[in-house]
Amino acid sequence: MPKKILIVGAGIAGIAGALALSRELTPFIPDLQITIFERHDILSTSGGAINLTPVAQRHLDQLGVLHELDKLGAEGGADVDAIELFSIRTARSLGNLDFTDNHGNGFSGYKGRRVMRIVLSLAMLTVVDRTRNVEIVYGKKLAHGQENAREATLFFSDGTSATGDLVLGCDGVHSATRTQWIDPSAPSEYTGISFLQTTLAASSISSPIHFRSTAMNISRHGSLLTSFCDRDGDQIFAAAIVQFDEHLLPHYKIEPGQDHRTQNVIKNTLREEMRDRFGKSAIPCIKEMTSLQSDWMLYPVYQVRPGARWHTGRAILLGDAAHAMPPRDESAAYALDDAILFSRILARYRHEPLSEVFKAYETIRRETVNNAFKASRRMWEKNKDMGLLEGRLKEWTLPFHIRNSKDAREAAWEFDATKINIPGPTESLCSFEKRSF
Ligand SMILES: Cc1cc2nc3c(=O)[nH]c(=O)nc-3n(C[C@H](O)[C@H](O)[C@H](O)COP(=O)(O)OP(=O)(O)OC[C@H]3O[C@@H](n4cnc5c(N)ncnc54)[C@H](O)[C@@H]3O)c2cc1C
Repeated sequence: MPKKILIVGAGIAGIAGALALSRELTPFIPDLQITIFERHDILSTSGGAINLTPVAQRHLDQLGVLHELDKLGAEGGADVDAIELFSIRTARSLGNLDFTDNHGNGFSGYKGRRVMRIVLSLAMLTVVDRTRNVEIVYGKKLAHGQENAREATLFFSDGTSATGDLVLGCDGVHSATRTQWIDPSAPSEYTGISFLQTTLAASSISSPIHFRSTAMNISRHGSLLTSFCDRDGDQIFAAAIVQFDEHLLPHYKIEPGQDHRTQNVIKNTLREEMRDRFGKSAIPCIKEMTSLQSDWMLYPVYQVRPGARWHTGRAILLGDAAHAMPPRDESAAYALDDAILFSRILARYRHEPLSEVFKAYETIRRETVNNAFKASRRMWEKNKDMGLLEGRLKEWTLPFHIRNSKDAREAAWEFDATKINIPGPTESLCSFEKRSF
């Protein structure tokens, strides 16, 4: 039974993994010790705002995080009843992705929420602080790992190391746990699409705001997400999802240590890019947003192709480290599902060798994640630059697509990782192989 668990990365998967493991294993292992190693010295404030689906909110609630978010008041995020879709060209509504049922209720009580990433991290850390057997150590960048029949060791770039019984690699899309240990043949790869994002004061926009809480504004030059990210509607998070050539990326990334002049050139170029793509919008507030002197930041989006190896004898990958996919507003939910499911399986299989735990987890999880990857990839293609006709076709067909996928979408939002039946070690896992969670 693993007593000393090492987690690489204090992102959503890493912290959720630690909290879920503590909850599931503490009753059986009183001297359980979980340590998270994070490469940053302090929490990163970058990354803008994130959308939490009903599934993500349910799982954050079960981990005690939602309560902490709510305690933060307006900063705890904007409620999202629906993502409204608009045509940038005509300003026409193209439909809604609803986070509520026909009576305006969330799915099993949960709607969507848009919250700044740093605020979500703070809420998660508050729960870590009061969890007795979880500790975070900052400034520990994993360089590589190694294991034998008795233990696993993490080696950090500052020359130190840590040894434990089990390692969870939760170090995101560019995971060193994956590339330097578990599966060096599975590098991250650029999707061809980047986010250009900024946060604006709502008071800086004089045109009427055309959305209730969140809108995805569609064009043939990419999509522009516009959303409040606080409950009072004071802040607007805007993110353009656009095709961007890989060879241009180094020229448009603002890095620490760059001189002022270079940074200004990059900021001006990205503003121009936004104006070229969305400046002629028929939606006045979008036109205005792109005309402001805002600083747009470039976030290239990377993925890990399905098929990567997920585990060795003592280490397993969770979250983006295992299966980063083009984000479609729910990748964070997959990281939370991973953390909760893995912890439940480990508790149930606690007397079994780790190889059996890992096998059970993969049997339940692999197909779901592969299907999610394919669905994300299909949606993602729609953000590539298009010709005139293709662009019109996209606008015309979108309302049908939204209606046709409604049932599947809403069924997925009822998913609860704490309720999935996990067959015991002696039961067959075969029946799970064909089910999708
Ligand atoms: C631009 C963009 C927008 C997105 N928007 C959404 C959204 O709206 N909704 C949604 O659900 N999902 C969204 N996603 C996806 C979501 O951010 C990820 O799926 C989620 O953050 C995955 O969590 P994670 O913990 O696996 O990885 P991460 O959040 O990437 O966390 C990894 C952690 O590991 C640390 N780390 C990395 N390397 C090392 C190392 N060598 N040693 C130690 N620590 C290390 C990192 O510093 C970080 O703290 C978006 C993704 C992108 C790129």
